[in-house]
Formats: sequence, C-alpha cells, structure tokens
Amino acid sequence: MSSIVLFGPPGAGKGTQAERMIDATGLPQVSTGDMLRAAVKAGTQTGLEAKGFMEAGLLVPDSVIIDLIKERIQEPDAKNGVMFDGFPRTIPQAEALEQITGVTHVIAIEVPDERIVERICGRYSCGACGNVYHDTFNPVPAGGCTCGNWEEKRRADDNEETVSSRLAAYHEQTSPLADWYRSKGIFHPVNGDRAIDDITGDILNALRL
Ligand code: AMP
Repeated sequence: MSSIVLFGPPGAGKGTQAERMIDATGLPQVSTGDMLRAAVKAGTQTGLEAKGFMEAGLLVPDSVIIDLIKERIQEPDAKNGVMFDGFPRTIPQAEALEQITGVTHVIAIEVPDERIVERICGRYSCGACGNVYHDTFNPVPAGGCTCGNWEEKRRADDNEETVSSRLAAYHEQTSPLADWYRSKGIFHPVNGDRAIDDITGDILNALRL
C-alpha cells in the first residue's frame, strides 16, 4: 500500500487538485477537513470534540485525527493507498502515519500568504457535488454548477478572522513537516499560484503519471 500526501497551506488548492487526481492515480481522496465537517454535521463524539477548534482556526488534537485516519484506512477503497488532503499537519501525525501506511510522494502546493486570504475568502462550492468555485478566479457558470444540481455552500471557517489563525497554525505546526519529508527524499514542491490545469500538470509530472 502506497499513499500520496497533498501538502500546503489552507486555500492552496489541495482539495481541488485531489479531486482532479482521483482518476489518474486510482486512489481515493482522504480529507481530514471533510471528515471532520461531516462529523460536526452528524453531531458525533468526534464532531463535538473538533467543532470548537475548527471554528477558532486551530488544529484539532492529534489523537482525534490519528483515530479518524486509522479507521478510514481500513475501508476497502483504501487497500492500494490513498491521497491524503490536509493530513498530516503535525510531526506526531506524520510519525503515526509512518506506522499506518507508506508514503511515496509528498506534493507541496506552494502559495504565498498574501494570496491565501483572497483565495479563501472568495471560495464556495456546490453542495450537491462538491465542485469548488471562487468569486473572482473561478465563478460558477451562469446556469449553475455543471452537475446540474446547483446549491451554493460556503464554509463557516472561510472568513478573514479565522484565516489568520489557520495560517498561523500552518506556519507554526505544519510547515516544519516540509523539512522532515525533504530529508526523506519524497518532497516535491509545486508552484500553486498559477492556473489550476498547470498545477495539475506539474503534479502528474512529479508523480510520473
Ligand atoms: P481543512 O478543510 O483541511 O482546511 O481543515 C479545516 C479544519 O479542520 C482545520 O482548520 C482544522 O481545525 C481541522 N483539521 C483538518 N485536518 C486536520 C489535521 N490533519 N490536524 C488537525 N486539525 C485538522
């Protein structure tokens, strides 16, 4: 089993790229953010534990995240590996991951801080199919989402106030992982401040697909 990690700050486009890579890699997207939002919505114990941290733009405790991943990786669709999106976010999470599955590539989508705020604050998605759009850079077509069931959805934590906490958490707790993975020789930086298709092309090259 060999997995891929999509790494980068909030709003870098990890989710967008992961969705586009599902066919090419044959691996399912595993987004801890999506899993936590589903848990909050369903009112599960995990959701109750995570909610306050998420609203404040802080990282959810490692033990909660590691338990979620251990469970998810048991699912039949994960047997050949997965594409992690937003995990790991701390060194202890990465150490736990090493015990769970092998990682062949860490794709770091690099976007400067000053671009993150505008990217996150204009972001919305289709509640029916999950397609991601942006007020300025990628607005939904005039007739609604391409899936035919348009339902606008904005994340509660995609606001200016929470973004600064999320960026601070990224720099303090997550970015040290870059050196950790670089030292293992599996770290592939990609310039994320470009057109979505160009970024996908670079990622496919890095994966040699
Ligand atoms: P995301 O959708 O990846 O931007 O995640 C949204 C929020 O969920 C984050 O701001 C954190 O509060 C929480 N979260 C998601 N993934 C993790 C993780 N791997 N470790 C800790 N907290 C996480």
